[in-house]
Amino acid sequence: MGTTAEQLIDAQTAFSSLNIERQSFDTLALHAGAFADPTTGALLTPIYQTTTYRQEAVGKDKGFTYSRSGNPTVSALERRLAALEGAEYCTCYATGLAATAVLCLALLRSGDHVVASQAVYGGTVRLLEQVLAPFGVTSEFVDTADETALSRAVTAKATRFVFIETPANPTLSLTDIESAARIAHAAGALLVVDNTLLTPALQRPFELDADIVLHSTTKFIEGHNATVGGALLTRDQKLHDQFSFTRNAIGAIQSPFPAWLTLQGVKTVGLRMAQHSENALQIARFLERHPRVTRLLYPGLESFPQFELARRQQGSGGALISFEVEGGVAAGIRLMNNVRLCALAENLGSAETLITHPASMTHADVPAIQRQAAGITDGLVRLSVGLEDPADVIRDLSQALEAREAE
Ligand code: PLP
Repeated sequence: MGTTAEQLIDAQTAFSSLNIERQSFDTLALHAGAFADPTTGALLTPIYQTTTYRQEAVGKDKGFTYSRSGNPTVSALERRLAALEGAEYCTCYATGLAATAVLCLALLRSGDHVVASQAVYGGTVRLLEQVLAPFGVTSEFVDTADETALSRAVTAKATRFVFIETPANPTLSLTDIESAARIAHAAGALLVVDNTLLTPALQRPFELDADIVLHSTTKFIEGHNATVGGALLTRDQKLHDQFSFTRNAIGAIQSPFPAWLTLQGVKTVGLRMAQHSENALQIARFLERHPRVTRLLYPGLESFPQFELARRQQGSGGALISFEVEGGVAAGIRLMNNVRLCALAENLGSAETLITHPASMTHADVPAIQRQAAGITDGLVRLSVGLEDPADVIRDLSQALEAREAE
């Protein structure tokens, strides 16, 4: 195509504009950050499976010295993710939680305060409350959709950052990113957005004034249930330097092979997110009409309480649906035990449809009282809609919903 890697990297700057064309996003997803093997011309960026790098002379290296601080395959992924999010900088990690850990270790000191969304991934709550609290960091979980509650929590203490997940896992409640940024900045705090559930294909936090974007690339970014990984993105060089320093200091970098797999998976993120959303909308409509479904949450449906915000802030509804079935916890568990095509599994964001029981699986370490306050009821079922023909998923859910009667 006659475009050099350098030109594609330059395209990152152009990408920051709000009105990015869909085609440009898909082109960047394929090409940004990539480089052909310099000796053979092999098209795919090589897996640089090496610990160390030969130096020309003392103090004279080619930009890499040891793979705990940097690796060319990982750097290629970082350039691509930065281009897709419209960020200047990216660092990749062994897992999403390693990214969250580096964020916290880089920015927080004893006495600091964090405000986080009430419904966030359970591992984020565990990290803040069980790992960081003994070091003197206090965390407060509020309904970040409620501007008054957020303002009150942020201004009352020495808040270092506000951490939001929107949509939140698993209640799918939304936070208005722009107003959260305004509230955080007015109090001198940073805004961190976990953009895992939508990816930059469907939501662009930096254009709404976020300071840091976090990803579990384990989910839709890699998209094929093949890796665990994480990323931190920013437009601020000082923050980036703090993340790079901390990543090296604690040894949290991603390995070259999962980075390479993620470079392949992310190529189709735009196409996949569009199809995930299209399939999820059809399945949500089926569930909404089903007489045994008592509560249904999907941001792409008009019945969703924050549908207007979803329309304004997101490209589409996304892949996640949460619902409850008649008969409470026992009925929900029976449904999950009876699916055949959908896999009962902990992950989300893959090509395969996955079904999860948040109260006993992903959010088991969140205290019951905190789960209830966040709307994560014991009967809640989370569906991460994949890329199968939605008619097959509907057939599977339909037989599993009936199966509860037969037992
Ligand atoms: N953020 C969100 C929204 C998640 O759902 C998860 C994991 O489920 C994480 C972060 C943590 O990522 P990882 O499992 O890759 O450590």
